[in-house]
Amino acid sequence: MHTESRLAKTPAASAAPEGKWAAYTACVPRGTNYALARRAVLRDLKRGVRSRNDVCDAHPELVRAARNVGERAGRKCPVCDGRDLYYVSYVYGDGLRQANGRCLSHPGELEKLRAKHDEFDRYVVEVCTDCRWNHLGARELHGRRHTA
Ligand SMILES: [Zn+2]
Repeated sequence: MHTESRLAKTPAASAAPEGKWAAYTACVPRGTNYALARRAVLRDLKRGVRSRNDVCDAHPELVRAARNVGERAGRKCPVCDGRDLYYVSYVYGDGLRQANGRCLSHPGELEKLRAKHDEFDRYVVEVCTDCRWNHLGARELHGRRHTA
């Protein structure tokens, strides 16, 4: 069964991964990477412009999704230095029907959606289940229209 995890709208624009995205981006013709925004947030945190509470505010639902269906980021949390950093993917698209706004919970699910739908967005959110740091990492366009 699917884990139903919906965010109110799109994942809170907080932000993102740097490098490491080759596996995803190689097959994605269009997309937005929020690495710069992520760096800016972390810089602000260091300087004290933002507090830890400001940036470590992951919704409980998001933390649960990270724990249950998240993909291990394979690197440390930029805030607490812990190892419980995950990527959670949400898909949005009018044509997705019941899948709209859901988070991906199975390997191969993205490929299936890609083959079935013309266009949809995938948002990848970086989440630490320890300190609740979260940031939108990337927005990618997927679907038959975007498959070479
Ligand atoms: Zn953390």
